[in-house]
Amino acid sequence: MTIQTVGVIGAGTMGNGIAQTCAVAGLQVVMVDISDAAVQKGLATVGSSLDRLIKKEKITEADKAAALARIKGSTRYDDLKAAQLVIEAATENYELKLKILKQVDDLLAPDVLLASNTSSISITQLGAATKRADKFIGMHFFNPVPMMALVEVIRGLQTSDATHDAVKAMAVQLGKSPITVKNSPGFVVNRILVPMINEAFYVLAEGIASAQDIDDGMKLGCSHPIGPLALADMIGLDVCLAVMEVYLKDFGDSKYRPCPLLKEMVAAGHLGRKTGKGVYQY
Ligand code: NAD
Repeated sequence: MTIQTVGVIGAGTMGNGIAQTCAVAGLQVVMVDISDAAVQKGLATVGSSLDRLIKKEKITEADKAAALARIKGSTRYDDLKAAQLVIEAATENYELKLKILKQVDDLLAPDVLLASNTSSISITQLGAATKRADKFIGMHFFNPVPMMALVEVIRGLQTSDATHDAVKAMAVQLGKSPITVKNSPGFVVNRILVPMINEAFYVLAEGIASAQDIDDGMKLGCSHPIGPLALADMIGLDVCLAVMEVYLKDFGDSKYRPCPLLKEMVAAGHLGRKTGKGVYQY
């Protein structure tokens, strides 16, 4: 099946980034959120993101107008019927996603592919809640979507080869570099990244080096663009802790034990950039 129209559920950080990326690649997009205000905010974010690309001379004013014209904002799931692929990028909440997916599953034609951008929920489990588990897949984009090349294409146990191949080809069409991943907590990137951040907190807590020296070490020694502790401040210490707790529970392996210092800092409300204080002061 050729994908000409993509449905995006959620017009937030990830949803509007996915909508923009699809529209710039020449696809028609229907972006749905719960309120008109959320849809308009999403569209405005796409507009200002495209303005930045114009400034960098990556696209022209005409490209911007054409891309915006390809995105239809809506508050009605019914409008998703125009799509051959629907990507769910709503708030990270299992019950909410289940409700949304069941609703659109009933609405969409049987051959429509359904994807979720979830960071932590099982693709196998979400797929099993629909009547199209073979056509259900994970499409894990990275933030900011228009800038980041990676898409983790996550196969649930029931995902068919045809669905995987179509979605992977579509990611390439978007200018992305997809990798294929089996459904598993944290997929690939976060499975490796978040325990590394957790280990950086252990190194800090043990007084082995200062925060700045730990970050400089990983930047200079591993060519990371940002140190693990500064990255934790960007992600949010609460998010890092929640992810480690999921790994500890789901894998049942003590190697995923969250660092007590990370727990302490979250308990103190030192969550990183968003609270003005984390490992560093902002
Ligand atoms: P966000 O809070 O910025 O946006 C979520 C949007 O979903 C909001 O606009 C909200 O109004 C909308 N929404 C809520 N209920 C809805 C419903 N019933 N129907 C339609 N829309 C609804 O969140 P986000 O950061 O864009 O995250 C979205 C998804 O992407 C989550 O599953 C998250 O785990 C995943 N993700 C996030 C990042 C990130 O860095 N932010 C990276 C990769 C994946």
